[in-house]
Amino acid sequence: MSKSGSNPSRIGIFGGTFDPIHNAHIQIGRDARDQSDLDRVLFVVAHVPPHKQDLTDASSEDRYAIVQAALADEPGMEPSRIEIDRDGVSYTADTLHSLHEQFPDAGLFLIIGMDSLIDLPRWRKPEHILELAELLVVPRPGEWKPPAELQGNYQLLDFKPIDVSSTDVRARIESGVDLEGLVPHAAAELIREKGLYGSAEIHPTG
Ligand code: ATP
Repeated sequence: MSKSGSNPSRIGIFGGTFDPIHNAHIQIGRDARDQSDLDRVLFVVAHVPPHKQDLTDASSEDRYAIVQAALADEPGMEPSRIEIDRDGVSYTADTLHSLHEQFPDAGLFLIIGMDSLIDLPRWRKPEHILELAELLVVPRPGEWKPPAELQGNYQLLDFKPIDVSSTDVRARIESGVDLEGLVPHAAAELIREKGLYGSAEIHPTG
């Protein structure tokens, strides 16, 4: 292991739309880092998510800036621009392929929520994803039946369920509810500063 080396040996990859990042995302990063002894967890901000093309509220640059603000004081957790800089639709298989080329000796660990695991067999090149990374799966509130073909192919993280989603956060902002406790403070400030998700309307200046 190389906690201080320049070529880390265990890298967590936590991909998401992060529209916006919320406290469950942060806790997932911490739990994955600590339970799986990861040197770093990369929060990979999707540029164009395959399942939400044209459906994100905020631009990838704004979502990235909010993730960056949220992670500023989180050791071992960092935002990644890899999908933004690649441009086009953001496929996890391509991202893992690039990271494997960049860090050929590292172990890659793909961190995903149970709702995403259900969809994974329909993602682009799922077999390639399973070759390149070990799966760390996070339970999510609700009833989920993991796909039979993935049984035995993933590790379930010990995660105290947090019933929050980016969809809830956007709805809360629109209805003017305070974001404290839902998103990291620095993220909430930046959202308001940028006037995202309708937050401009809830803080009239005049
Ligand atoms: P949306 O409500 O817009 O669909 P989201 O809250 O699911 O967004 P994403 O950015 O799409 O957030 O999620 C990134 C990853 O985090 C996915 O793997 C998702 O399953 C996982 N995730 C998000 N929120 C939770 C949660 N509360 N518990 C467990 N996993 C979660």
